[in-house]
Amino acid sequence: MRAYVAIGANLGDRLATLRAAIDALANAENLSVHATSPLYETAPVGGPEDQPSFLNAVVQVETELSAHDLLDFLLSVERENNRTRDVRWGPRTLDLDILFYGDLVTVDSRLEVPHPRLHQRRFVLQPLADIAPDLVHPVLGKTVTELLAGLPDDDIDDIVVFMDEWSAAPCL
Ligand code: ATP
Ligand code: CA
Ligand code: CA
Repeated sequence: MRAYVAIGANLGDRLATLRAAIDALANAENLSVHATSPLYETAPVGGPEDQPSFLNAVVQVETELSAHDLLDFLLSVERENNRTRDVRWGPRTLDLDILFYGDLVTVDSRLEVPHPRLHQRRFVLQPLADIAPDLVHPVLGKTVTELLAGLPDDDIDDIVVFMDEWSAAPCL
């Protein structure tokens, strides 16, 4: 199955952590990394004020894991990278979210796919558009490009390219 995973960090050595996360994905059994977006630096959205800026990217993976097993794996990679959960949307060393898992639409207490806030987030849609512009959201019926174009543009300055080729996995 083809899945898209958003990765972000705003605590510690952000670049090193994101590279370690990519390596963990690339080295996992039953999973391979097929594309990595450029890395963006973005202003925090939601959560406490005055938290540091994020580095964000999106990766395309192919996996034999079920959506729930993929979630468990991503949560274990977060834990290995010292992720803690204190304040909602607070600062974190590493955040790994499943954006899409094929065309799967599912909601339960542990997992919601497509990710319920992806279509509101420039820091997700911009890197996603770099690697999958024509991907259609299975619920909203719009492409990633259309979703990105539909965002209010008041936060357009809140995201800048940080690095184009930044991981050992295939980059665009
Ligand atoms: P947001 O979901 O708004 O991006 P967050 O990433 O800060 O917020 P977390 O504290 O990282 O939220 O995650 C809380 C829980 O969300 C996780 O333990 C997980 O069970 C659940 N969850 C539901 N859907 C998803 C998904 N698509 N990807 C990752 N986690 C999910
Ligand atoms: Ca998140
Ligand atoms: Ca998360």
